[in-house]
Amino acid sequence: MSWRNDKKGKKTPYQGDRRSFGEYECSQCSRTWKSANSFANFGQMCQTCNTMVYAHTMKPLERPEGLDEIDPEKSHPKHLCELCRRGYNKCVAK
Ligand SMILES: [Zn+2]
Ligand SMILES: [Zn+2]
Repeated sequence: MSWRNDKKGKKTPYQGDRRSFGEYECSQCSRTWKSANSFANFGQMCQTCNTMVYAHTMKPLERPEGLDEIDPEKSHPKHLCELCRRGYNKCVAK
């Protein structure tokens, strides 16, 4: 199951409250990345060109303990995350 970005006027394909696994593609430099801290209508900054990017695809995270498998090396890039930059406390703190 996944949510696709086919609704006009929404920033992200998923509109619920839960943390999701998001896939991002920067419209300026075409960099792509994935994040397990993806939330409805919040973007992440492209670390190459500082463009705010919203997930084009979001999938439900069934098992939060699975986060480490997705991104075992890096901690959550708070300086790139719109939620963290605004002071929300939803993302995984590492
Ligand atoms: Zn970029
Ligand atoms: Zn965050």
